[in-house]
Amino acid sequence: MPKSKSYALGIDLGGTKTLAAVIDLSSGSVVASARKRTRAERGQDFVSQRTIELANAAITAAKLPDDAELLAIGVGAAGQIDRAAGVVLDAPNLGVRNMALGEILNKRFNLPVVVGNDVEVAAMGESLYGSGRGYNNFVCLFVGTGIGSGIVQNGRMYTGLTGTAGEAGHMTIQAGGRICGCGSRGCLEAYASRTAITKAILAEMHHGRPSILADDALGQLKEGDTIIRSGIIANAIDHKDELVTEIVTEAANYLGYGLGSIMNFYNPDCIILGGGVIEAVDLLFETAVSRARTVALSASGKQTPIVRAKLGDFSGVAGAAALGAMRTGYAVDTKN
Ligand SMILES: [Zn+2]
Repeated sequence: MPKSKSYALGIDLGGTKTLAAVIDLSSGSVVASARKRTRAERGQDFVSQRTIELANAAITAAKLPDDAELLAIGVGAAGQIDRAAGVVLDAPNLGVRNMALGEILNKRFNLPVVVGNDVEVAAMGESLYGSGRGYNNFVCLFVGTGIGSGIVQNGRMYTGLTGTAGEAGHMTIQAGGRICGCGSRGCLEAYASRTAITKAILAEMHHGRPSILADDALGQLKEGDTIIRSGIIANAIDHKDELVTEIVTEAANYLGYGLGSIMNFYNPDCIILGGGVIEAVDLLFETAVSRARTVALSASGKQTPIVRAKLGDFSGVAGAAALGAMRTGYAVDTKN
């Protein structure tokens, strides 16, 4: 008799969107998913209600067979987490403090719940089902609103003394440089995150630099836009837009300095880069990689594979689901 398949629910609770998905644990593939904007401005109760609503929607849409097992729920939330208690301690981007998400979901769904950090679960997803397969020691770095990374050591997440290991976005890459959201100056994410790229482009346009982004006919930027979508950045570069090309090249070089420093310090088996802007913008990825190779010491600079993440939007939910299931004793088979 064939063994029934095992599944878990993964939830990616981000500042912009919340995504819930039922994951087939043998392959990491998505059986069904549901997503909506998080709307952090509506408050903590709204965020937890919306999370429950999306979890329900994903489970219903999955239509799992009767003999299938939904083992657990795993959550990755964009903030500081008390992993043992399942509490989101502080998450400014979610408008949430001390939210006992583990308990809330456990009560509602009667399943074991594991709560982790969003970058940690995404790194785990890539480790088990994506570009990290076959590597025991690597760094997975995501470029988005900010820059975060997960450190995998001997196949497990390394979280550090205070749980903040992998905060690569706050490595200083320019002494006394731009002020960062963390209060320090010259941090990597103040130069190379999508937010930083957007700010730099908009500031130049505001000062009169021409760009096709200002061209209404191309349906580019609207008044008051604070985020430039990755696809629009890629399109502007394809059209040889001088401003966007210049800003992205500059950001990519800073990203490369950061990556080169990571290679020198940790000498990982591999570096995985993820995030929508990395996926969409070849110039950013390729320039960062070649800069990293010149910054790193020659042996690691030459030999370290630097690859893109494989699971796209789903690395977080796949990793969260697997972490949840592993807590119950399920062993993810990483060999097939
Ligand atoms: Zn910082």
